[in-house]
Amino acid sequence: MNNLKQIDQQYVAGTYNRFPVEIVSGKGSLVYDENGKEYIDMGTGIGVTGFGIADEEWVAAVTAQLNKVQHMSNLYYTEPCALLAQEMCNRTGMAKVFFANSGAEANECAIKVARKYAADKKGLEYSTIITLKNSFHGRTLTTLSATGQEHYHELFQPLTPGFVHGDAGDLEGITKLALSSKAAAILIECVQGEGGVIAMEPDFVKGLAAFCKEQDILLMVDEVQTGNGRTGQLYAYMNYGIQPDVVSTAKGLGGGLPLGAALLSEKVQNVLGFGDHGSTFGGNPVCCAGALSILQRIDENLLAEVRRKGEYIRQQLDGAKGITGLSGMGLMVGIKTEKPAGQLVKALLDKGVLCLTAKDKVRLLPALNIPMDVLAKAIDAIKEVCAE
Ligand SMILES: *Cc1c(COP(=O)(O)O)cnc(C)c1O
Repeated sequence: MNNLKQIDQQYVAGTYNRFPVEIVSGKGSLVYDENGKEYIDMGTGIGVTGFGIADEEWVAAVTAQLNKVQHMSNLYYTEPCALLAQEMCNRTGMAKVFFANSGAEANECAIKVARKYAADKKGLEYSTIITLKNSFHGRTLTTLSATGQEHYHELFQPLTPGFVHGDAGDLEGITKLALSSKAAAILIECVQGEGGVIAMEPDFVKGLAAFCKEQDILLMVDEVQTGNGRTGQLYAYMNYGIQPDVVSTAKGLGGGLPLGAALLSEKVQNVLGFGDHGSTFGGNPVCCAGALSILQRIDENLLAEVRRKGEYIRQQLDGAKGITGLSGMGLMVGIKTEKPAGQLVKALLDKGVLCLTAKDKVRLLPALNIPMDVLAKAIDAIKEVCAE
């Protein structure tokens, strides 16, 4: 083991089981380790670097802002924050944006909005948030409580009260739960990411949207992983023809810098007033300048490319030896395999392809603009290791 890995293991808190590779540089969908070995990046830092590593347009947008002003706090106006909020609202039909630094924080904002909206409108007892079993909403204590996976909860009791987990797909069960628990909101991922790349059925999502509207319960969609072009639409809810009350996003939004956002519909745009919420770094001008450059490039052409490449991956892998199923949407792909996913990801690392796992699946979240020849090479390697 080299010196750097030793230092890291000695001094960095042991919450991550890292692969034995140090990444030192990259360009687009290719990255290089400390020995100069090349890898195809099919994970994009868990769905973050949507246009790859050191993308020129993003670097230019970020460095231009970096040389003007890197941070001023939310006591003052800065251009990138305002223009990014405008772009996000124009592209989604939402009315306002709250900026945070991560997905968990974006969800915290959504939860605060739901609690305050329902308290103002129906009374303090309407505080429950319904989320789905097998969901993932973050690592803060409250978003951990929202996460519908017991094994994340065990060691951190007591959790934040007021979260009830229902079964994905069970519209009747969820609506009953929502009524009996006096729900303020229902929070879902349209495609569960960490839970195993599982897309929700359209009837379920549409049914939830209709129920929420009828009952004045907020429908909140966690687009931290699915957002910003990943599924072949700007946000995954757009695949379902619904209009949520709140959308949270992060990961791919900043292109590699930390940025989260909660998008608020007209109905809830003024729920949070002066002093009700805040963040020192939220809406940081450097992060926002990069994010604006990214959103502006996620146009109809790029989204069509994402859908095409997603179909290509599915065509190539469907029925391939050692592969028993495919899931997800666009360039968010889950691969069910005969061999354990973890073992395959290690074999792919050796072959120079970086992939992720999600539960028992191999998960792919490549750059939205990954070149076709690079993608084809990675898919060939995946086929090879699955067939061996
Ligand atoms: C990653 C993720 C989060 C948490 O985001 P952080 O930036 O790590 O806080 C929340 N929700 C979903 C759906 C995610 O995939």
